[in-house]
Amino acid sequence: MRQKVRQQLPEERIKNFQEVSLGFSDEQAIAEAKRCLQCKQPKCVQGCPVGIDIPGFINLILQGKRRDALLKIREKNNLPAICGRVCPQEYQCESECVLSKKNIPINIGALERYAADYELLYPSVSISSSYKLQSESKQKIVVVGSGPAGLTAAADLAKMGYYVLLFESLHIAGGVLSYGIPEFRLPKTIVRREVDYVRSVGVELCTDVLIGRTLTIDDLFTQGAQAIFLAVGAGLPQFLGIPGENLKGVFSANEFLTRVNLMKAYRFPEYATPINLGDKVVVIGGGNVAFDCARVAIRLGKDTQLVYRRTENEMPARKEEIENARAESLKFRLLTQPISILGDKNGSVCGLECIKMQLGQPDDSGRRRPVPIKDSNFVLDIDTVIVAIGQRPNPLISKVTPQLKTNPNGTIWVDDNLMTSLPGVFAGGDIITGADTVISAMGAGKKAATQIDKFIKTKRESL
Ligand code: FAD
Ligand code: SF4
Repeated sequence: MRQKVRQQLPEERIKNFQEVSLGFSDEQAIAEAKRCLQCKQPKCVQGCPVGIDIPGFINLILQGKRRDALLKIREKNNLPAICGRVCPQEYQCESECVLSKKNIPINIGALERYAADYELLYPSVSISSSYKLQSESKQKIVVVGSGPAGLTAAADLAKMGYYVLLFESLHIAGGVLSYGIPEFRLPKTIVRREVDYVRSVGVELCTDVLIGRTLTIDDLFTQGAQAIFLAVGAGLPQFLGIPGENLKGVFSANEFLTRVNLMKAYRFPEYATPINLGDKVVVIGGGNVAFDCARVAIRLGKDTQLVYRRTENEMPARKEEIENARAESLKFRLLTQPISILGDKNGSVCGLECIKMQLGQPDDSGRRRPVPIKDSNFVLDIDTVIVAIGQRPNPLISKVTPQLKTNPNGTIWVDDNLMTSLPGVFAGGDIITGADTVISAMGAGKKAATQIDKFIKTKRESL
């Protein structure tokens, strides 16, 4: 039987920001590892964008060799404790597991987390602290952005022997892992530990440096960079374009989550950043970001509902998080489209006018298109709106670097090797795909590291 991951009870967890999932016990991990068929040609590995030897690490868990299991995962994945917590495995490795045909795939994510948390339990024998620096290379590579794409590329390049400088505009590394995904899904001690691992392999991290302002791409080359990897993500909030979006009480998901996660507003006044929400919150959207906002609002004691224009089947959020949110009493308003945010005489939100929808023919995304039902308008009695309908690529670097070709949707153009229109400048992660997933950003980071290594070697040979 597939082992069920232990969790904090819903009635308890809505009162705190501690991690909801408690992971596998030793007994559960062994029981789950026993279920793995150790396929000779494992399909699960093909479903993993960074190509972890999944049966290999599961077998080590089965033998009680938890540290070796972690080392096996780290051969391919620099951030296993993060992936074990937030990867949408149901669409990736687990969907390829042969047992998924019987609807009981191996719980690969929970096993990955179990192996990765070895370092949390036994920090004195941590793998980070025992890592040997690879070389004193003078070949300098610059990575811009310390989200999963940047961290992965930086660590892989450092392991190949390059001197890697990683620039981050915020005061803390991790990208969305630090400022977006809430503590109760991804504790920040875990992110810090994985960032420490990346530094332990030789990466030099420089925070509070905004590339495009503090230093330009040309400056980086002048200062000796042999190649540059742009991993600046998609953090530009998208709005609905409906009346009332400038009213007091309307937040973008980015602002809301950054205040809460990065600036610790949930611990106000201990931390200086406040978050002035009303009592009746509506979150608009159906992805991971929308669910994170809604579950944060619930923990802040607000009456919270989620408005989504399609049905639950079309929601892009991870299934586990949808179930968790439902258990936490989030109210779902499906097939509902906001059309206007209503304000009072003080310019504050006092309602949300919506229209009912029905599903029509599939659109370009393959999902059935929501179509308004005539004369079905109604008003929701709310005082706070959080807009979580997607993010666009960060535009700064492409704006100040005209030679950098972009696509019509603002993503940076790259060729098959992730090289941009500027020779020696590579890009990957959300900045080339638009908002995607942690593991696809990491896959891009891995590919970029390989391509940058090839680029430098080819350049050296041609000298
Ligand atoms: P990012 O993580 O966005 O990192 C980019 C970094 O670059 C940031 O730190 C930024 O500050 C920095 N930067 C930007 N511009 C500059 C500059 N000019 N100079 C220097 N630094 C710069 N995915 C999942 O797989 N599972 C989930 O459960 C999940 N939940 C999510 C929840 C939220 C709230 C959000 C917002 C996203 C979620 N995602 C999830 C998506 C996932 O986090 C992203 O796809 C992933 O983080 C993209 O990685 P990245 O490295 O490309 O960019
Ligand atoms: Fe194990 Fe499933 Fe991978 Fe086969 S496909 S090796 S059963 S996890």
